[in-house]
Amino acid sequence: NYVIRLENVRKVYNSGSVKVEALKGVSLGVKNGEFLMIVGPSGSGKSTLLHIMGALDTPTSGRVEIAGKDMTNLSDEELAEIRNKYVGFVFQQYNLIESLTVLENVMFPMTLAGEEDEERAKDLLRKVGLKEEHFDKFPSQLSGGEQQRVAIARALANDPEVILADEPTGQLDTKNSQRIMKLLEKLNDSGHTIVMVTHDLSLVRWADRVILLRDGRIEREMSPEELDAEV
Ligand code: ADP
Ligand code: ADP
Repeated sequence: NYVIRLENVRKVYNSGSVKVEALKGVSLGVKNGEFLMIVGPSGSGKSTLLHIMGALDTPTSGRVEIAGKDMTNLSDEELAEIRNKYVGFVFQQYNLIESLTVLENVMFPMTLAGEEDEERAKDLLRKVGLKEEHFDKFPSQLSGGEQQRVAIARALANDPEVILADEPTGQLDTKNSQRIMKLLEKLNDSGHTIVMVTHDLSLVRWADRVILLRDGRIEREMSPEELDAEV
């Protein structure tokens, strides 16, 4: 039972005359309800892989399936629709809209989907542990940990099956990192599938399953315990 499936995915970037093969034939399935972590050194293709898993980017070749739907040959509009409905993205830099308040940021994906619901947005902000006094503030008025909570609430706006998180603790100190990991664990316990990219091996203990990416290929797949025993 897979929420996302990739088959022999390749991704080639053309920057000028230089070709970079970021993914060299990756096949994997994300199981419904799991907490999957993708680890690997910088430049190994982790972000590229996550973006393709969430239809933020398309592969050069290979097959991608999200929620049972084949992503091959879809138009940009169709991809955007799938993305908005099935996946929620969380980024290292939070990527909040600075000109919108916290509450408006969370409502933004709802607006795109044509289903604005302020009460639901407030509930999501409470769920991620943000104090009410922050709801009408702008992102720059919050701490990094708080901004990431808002970004997670926004990722949940359209109740996606999967949350894709790219180095979500990369900008945070240890205390705030642990808080964000606890929040992701809580969301996972309540039924959300989580895929998280990190280069921080100390975080793998939060995952059910770890995929080690190296030079555009899956080098190994293991449990957190197996990886822990090695590092
Ligand atoms: P990671 O997330 O593991 O650091 P990335 O997926 O960001 O890896 O990058 C994999 C490789 O693809 C790197 O060599 C990187 O320089 C290259 N790359 C990533 N994005 C682009 C892009 N937009 N254009 C050209 N090359 C890119
Ligand atoms: P945390 O308890 O998450 O570590 P901080 O100690 O960084 O948070 O921040 C405590 C409070 O200070 C937060 O509630 C936040 O509203 C405020 N704050 C933090 N950073 C900034 C900033 N750059 N601009 C304005 N307010 C900030």
